Amino acid sequence: MSRQVRVAVVGAGLGGIAAAVKLKRAGVEDFTVFEKAAGPGGVWWQNTYPGCEVDVPSFAYSYSFMPHDWSGTHAKQPELRDYAAAVIERFGVDGHFRFGQEVLGAIWDEQRSVYTVRVADPAGIETVCEFEVLVSAVGMLSNPRLPDWPGLEDFEGPVFHTSRFDHDVDLTGKRVALVGTGSTACQLGPAIAPKVGQLDLYQREPGHVLPKKAREFDPELRARYRRSPLRRRVERFKTFRAARATADALAVGTENNARIDGYFTYHLAKAVKDPVTRAALTPDYPYGCKRPIFASSYYPMFNRDNVTLVPHAVTEVAPDGLLDDTGTKRPADVLILSTGFHASDYLATLRVTGRDGVELRDYWDGEPWAFLGMTVPGFPNLVMLYGPNTNGGYSVITQLEIQADALVRLVRRLRRGRVTAIDTRPGFARRVDGYVQEQIGHRMSTATAGCRNYYHSATGKNVTQWPLSHTAYRLAVRFLTRWGQRAT
Ligand SMILES: Cc1cc2nc3c(=O)[nH]c(=O)nc-3n(C[C@H](O)[C@H](O)[C@H](O)COP(=O)(O)OP(=O)(O)OC[C@H]3O[C@@H](n4cnc5c(N)ncnc54)[C@H](O)[C@@H]3O)c2cc1C
Repeated sequence: MSRQVRVAVVGAGLGGIAAAVKLKRAGVEDFTVFEKAAGPGGVWWQNTYPGCEVDVPSFAYSYSFMPHDWSGTHAKQPELRDYAAAVIERFGVDGHFRFGQEVLGAIWDEQRSVYTVRVADPAGIETVCEFEVLVSAVGMLSNPRLPDWPGLEDFEGPVFHTSRFDHDVDLTGKRVALVGTGSTACQLGPAIAPKVGQLDLYQREPGHVLPKKAREFDPELRARYRRSPLRRRVERFKTFRAARATADALAVGTENNARIDGYFTYHLAKAVKDPVTRAALTPDYPYGCKRPIFASSYYPMFNRDNVTLVPHAVTEVAPDGLLDDTGTKRPADVLILSTGFHASDYLATLRVTGRDGVELRDYWDGEPWAFLGMTVPGFPNLVMLYGPNTNGGYSVITQLEIQADALVRLVRRLRRGRVTAIDTRPGFARRVDGYVQEQIGHRMSTATAGCRNYYHSATGKNVTQWPLSHTAYRLAVRFLTRWGQRAT
């Protein structure tokens, strides 16, 4: 007879949805997905800023089990948000989702092998429930990083982070200060530039921005894709294969790295007319040091009369403008913070206590790590999706599916009833983590001196990136997991 195994999934982004679908397909019905937002999709629910779209082509940035009638090569945010909702409906898992429910924390009960989970509704009313398995699907890019510039509180105009875009603010004719030059700013800037009076883009450090080659599909092509699932599969396969061919471009010294660097220089020279702006937009570090950005309209935006690149960090905010690190003040009516996320601060929104009352954040002590990004010694029956060092391959959705499959295997094992707690062997897990770090050193430039990116913890360790392919990750998860587990 199988044992009852209740599963709590925290987060209804594409990770939580993958978990829900895979659990249901495996015949597991006893699960609940808690989501603090009002709807599903995670980053695609939160990020509604103009121009928001995916970087990875949609044929690859979609679930293997749910092909879709994409409107073009790269889906925009509304289409991705709707796709997330459509997956939930298509697989009949809607009844498992609880929106507006924030999981505050979970404590492992050693005697009963359950997690006691504390959940708060929008009114702050708390409930406590119990689950044998806890799944963190809280994402890596959903917790906004807000600056602590002096004077920020006293800014007289509207201020908002890009992931909380305030659509009630009319930007028409306004002087807008946009701070940051990551992927988001590179999408948002060109989308609002034609509307605003003046756009000042504050850049602490330039990135490598490459053209995206995004296009809408014409109705005839869409119809052909709809008629032929095989054609869509082939496109998906071709997209992944093309990505693999240039995977080593992220490592300094490879032929592909030099080739892309050369192409980048050519593209920038062609796109930006003013040589001073062009020079300020040129990174002084190699390609791959930071996350590359794909946005065709970003560089041409600087040819507009109403767009100014401010190649300096913001140091202070005045009631009516911003001061940069040269002491120069520029007026602004609206301040938009494209300052990124607490990417390396894993599970920051969730307090998990494991064996012997140890809190996960204390255990990590500022340097998150996990066995294949999913499990942590001393925290039985806790599975993380998109956990430490799993950001990589090509499409994060593929990583999430691999992790959801591993979750299903763990739940099945517990349901068989011979074991009640599945923990991680620290020695083996550490050796695998060491290997991953070694591969990061060999295959990526992120550790090059002077590289600044969101991949590192405060201790300097790369805690976010997976340096190998999806296939390598799939094989590692499939065949190493049992070696790294200790069941009781
Ligand atoms: C603008 C943007 C563009 C991106 N483009 C790409 C791309 O092109 N290719 C790619 O591979 N990846 C991309 N990503 C990365 C993206 O994060 C992943 O692809 C993927 O969507 C992550 O899904 P997730 O479910 O793991 O996390 P998320 O989408 O971050 O979802 C996490 C969810 O957990 C919820 N949550 C958090 N804490 C709690 C709590 N305590 N209680 C309840 N709910 C909680 C959040 O509200 C959120 O809905 C992009 C990210 C952003 C922000």
